[in-house]
Amino acid sequence: MPIKDKPQPSRPNLITSLLIFVPGLLLLANLVLPIFTGPKLPRVPYSFFIEQVQDGDVANVAVGQNLIRYKLNDRSDQPGQVLQTTPIFDLELPKRLEANGVEFAAIPPASNRWFLTLLGWIVPPIIFVGLFQLFSRRQGGGGLSGALPITKNKAKVYVEGDENKVTFDDVAGVEESKTELAEIVEFLQTPQRFTEIGARIPKGALLVGPPGTGKTLLAKAVAGEAGVPFFSISGSEFVELFVGTGAARVRDLFEQAKKKAPCIIFIDELDAIGKSRSGGNGFVGGNDEREQTLNQLLTEMDGFGAGDATVIVLAATNRPETLDPALLRPGRFDRQILVDRPDLSGRLAILNIYAQKVKLGAEVELKAIATRTPGFAGADLANLVNEAALLAARRKSEVVEEQDFSEAVERVVAGLEKKSRVLTKNEKEIVAFHEVGHALVGALMPGSDEVQKISIVPRGMAALGYTLQVPTEDRFLLNESELRGQITTLLGGRAAEEVIFGKITTGASNDLQRATDLAEQMVTSYGMSTVLGPLAYAQGQQNNFLGNNGTTRRMVSEATAEAIDQEVKAIVEGAHQEALGILEKNRELLDTIALQLLHTEVMEGEHLQKLLNQVQVYEQPPADPEPVDVDAPSKFVIV
Ligand code: ADP
Ligand code: MG
Ligand code: ZN
Repeated sequence: MPIKDKPQPSRPNLITSLLIFVPGLLLLANLVLPIFTGPKLPRVPYSFFIEQVQDGDVANVAVGQNLIRYKLNDRSDQPGQVLQTTPIFDLELPKRLEANGVEFAAIPPASNRWFLTLLGWIVPPIIFVGLFQLFSRRQGGGGLSGALPITKNKAKVYVEGDENKVTFDDVAGVEESKTELAEIVEFLQTPQRFTEIGARIPKGALLVGPPGTGKTLLAKAVAGEAGVPFFSISGSEFVELFVGTGAARVRDLFEQAKKKAPCIIFIDELDAIGKSRSGGNGFVGGNDEREQTLNQLLTEMDGFGAGDATVIVLAATNRPETLDPALLRPGRFDRQILVDRPDLSGRLAILNIYAQKVKLGAEVELKAIATRTPGFAGADLANLVNEAALLAARRKSEVVEEQDFSEAVERVVAGLEKKSRVLTKNEKEIVAFHEVGHALVGALMPGSDEVQKISIVPRGMAALGYTLQVPTEDRFLLNESELRGQITTLLGGRAAEEVIFGKITTGASNDLQRATDLAEQMVTSYGMSTVLGPLAYAQGQQNNFLGNNGTTRRMVSEATAEAIDQEVKAIVEGAHQEALGILEKNRELLDTIALQLLHTEVMEGEHLQKLLNQVQVYEQPPADPEPVDVDAPSKFVIV
């Protein structure tokens, strides 16, 4: 896409002339000086010169500070030859010359030195001025006018009407994100429709997802669809060279944008400025510069209100967990749009886009390629098609054939394996059964939320596959059987691996961690163990605003500690047995759903519900005890 740089004030291009001038001057000096100093003379060692003097071969000598030039006389082998040598500190020299009857004189101070002297006076100031210009240009400022305006930002502006603008058609496989962004396009096109009924137009949306899934592309597409200017700057550009200018740049950027409203400001790699201000270990402080920039960004986002024309801030990051919570609160980046790795049909759609750009062989089946590339992001697929085309060209083939794609897949996978996760066929099977295990158990358990989606598209960020459970209502109280149900659901994945494959993989470690945590909380915080009674063995939670809280255990006797361990183990093990029982009883259904999942990679909606409704109850869970107060479950439960 063509990029129109912000118009720069015109000014002599000093850097370029400097770059030509200085080496030119040096070259000239090298060419000219020899003319003054004469042709190059053969250089001999000092000892050799002394020998020749003592042999009486030397006619006359000119002694300089750095150079001795001398001429051989008629008695020598090469009469008339002029030679030179480098003097060493030798006080005896005049005496020796005199003793051998050699005529000698000092070399007069070189008359051509003026040139070098001049050079010495002129070049440093030029370099200095040049560097100064260079720095002020880096800031995009207008040179020397006023107080150093080194804060002008260099956001790139994509202007509407470019003939190859990006639209939603250029982005595939991320339909959900597109739907959400389509709303933003509407805000930009017809803001009055929303403001007239008193709605506040959101200020910011954050695109979150693994690298290469099309976040930057989507942001451009929003601008393209809405036909508005698009200011794009990356977070790292904000925090560039000079202390304090990051904040000034934010201010400047928003000022420019407001003039062009309605428009989009896109901040790529937001994590570069938006990192949480409390470091992971609770230390506050660190990079002042970044913090100032971040504060300015927050201020600006608060600053433009309903009265102003529509400026929407889009930002992208692949590390949302590091962002400062202040950025995510309503009124700032209150919308988070997940841009995830595409599923099978998504990959096919993306392949279709890029396959149109190359000459495809008749028997190439894109569907088959899409099936073989789980875990590929959009950028990987674009790269794949290009690699295949390159391979075909190397073969001197007219069209890209199946074999090129096969080889390209191998190449890209080899490169990807280090970066992210690409599952082998075998792994994919295990993940499929694991996730269906969660889903089947979850469908039966009292405390579990409705299973909405099962996916075995690797997430990159969290898991190899996932089962998404969405609560049907807000819950603040859970009773014991519900908690047990959650633990059982968590163990469903591992139980499925045991039932089907008879062996266990490392994939369940996070499930086990969470199951154990829950069981421990039941025993030590919620007083749900009959053996240990209604005592809180966990000490109060230290909660700070940034949400990193920790628990410690109260001082307990050794016997109590042992009892706690036993209770926790009993709860988890009981849940494990129950999960195993459920899955063994529903073995056929498990197979059916897992095989379908392997085929489609994602299952959701009515189809999934219908299948899950066929689950047969294995054992009646114990009767409802009293509800207890626990932390509200998070919005999404991913197991
Ligand atoms: P991100 O910003 O998420 O890291 P980009 O938007 O920069 O990824 O994607 C890099 C390139 O990969 C894009 O320019 C485009 O060519 C290709 N690409 C990525 N995702 C998609 C997609 N969903 N549909 C089409 N092309 C994509
Ligand atoms: Mg990007
Ligand atoms: Zn799991």
